[in-house]
Amino acid sequence: MDDAKPVEPVSGIVLPRFAGIATFMRLPYAADPAAVDIGLIGVPWDGGTTNRPGARHGPRAIRDQSSLIRRVHPVTRTAPYHLARVADLGDVPVNPADIADTLAKIERFYARVRTVGAVPLSAGGDHLVTLPIFRGIVDKRRPVGMVHFDAHSDTWDSYFGDFKYTHGTPFRRAIEEGLLDPQRTVQIGIRGSLYAADDLDWALAQGIRVIGIEEYFRLGPEKVIAEARRVVGDGPTYVSFDVDSLDPVYAPGTGTPEIGGFSTFEAQQMVRGLRGLDLIGGDVVEVSPPFDQGGATALVGATMMFEILCVLAEALAARRKR
Ligand code: MN
Ligand code: MN
Repeated sequence: MDDAKPVEPVSGIVLPRFAGIATFMRLPYAADPAAVDIGLIGVPWDGGTTNRPGARHGPRAIRDQSSLIRRVHPVTRTAPYHLARVADLGDVPVNPADIADTLAKIERFYARVRTVGAVPLSAGGDHLVTLPIFRGIVDKRRPVGMVHFDAHSDTWDSYFGDFKYTHGTPFRRAIEEGLLDPQRTVQIGIRGSLYAADDLDWALAQGIRVIGIEEYFRLGPEKVIAEARRVVGDGPTYVSFDVDSLDPVYAPGTGTPEIGGFSTFEAQQMVRGLRGLDLIGGDVVEVSPPFDQGGATALVGATMMFEILCVLAEALAARRKR
């Protein structure tokens, strides 16, 4: 962003935070992705959910809670809106009654974002939405790496017989389709009971670095992120943040809570530790407002989006300088 004027959020000292139409981070709405460097996008869809639904309401609740977020990062002092043009690109037009149709619609939306050279930062939706996002933005000749925060590996094969598309399967499909490089994928926070003792074997056999919660607490966030950086290296990398990676004390409003997770502060520290990686997009998924209490989990989602936005904007600025 050299000559263009920064697009700033509406300031809370000009118009109070509870006023106005809710957009992500109080930014303007832009219908055309060509107008932005980073597009904040809602994917209001939970057709991939296998148990408790509600993530379709995530984007609207996250937009509302995001009015609490100010312009500048409190620790790094990053001002993302001075590094990149950022706006709310609205919601993907999904079909709550048809999974295949929705996957195609999400893919088309993100393919357009990629065509104009914009970087997407999305609010789900359940975790299946990351698969069509990858289909839209990833060049299969150059599969992406991923830093994946989750209580679950999401590399199961199928559900309910031979059904292949749920929020428990997106990364198995993404690897099979050549979109995601398993050797450059790290999963952080994995825990929770399994369907079978060998549930994680496929992921490990592909070369995914799985950092289960026991190892996480043994190493601590700093060493975990050092390991994540080693795994993804300097190639293009996506950040996917499932709020169920957090302990449900911090994020109760989600479909598949698992006790014994890390804290919101630890999650913030880890995302801050991604500075300098070649980040090409990210998402925050599985915020389910019907299971939330007073918007607490939606606020976590909005804040983690801002954390990711800051490191994404820095990565974009670094690519411009190269
Ligand atoms: Mn997940
Ligand atoms: Mn999960």
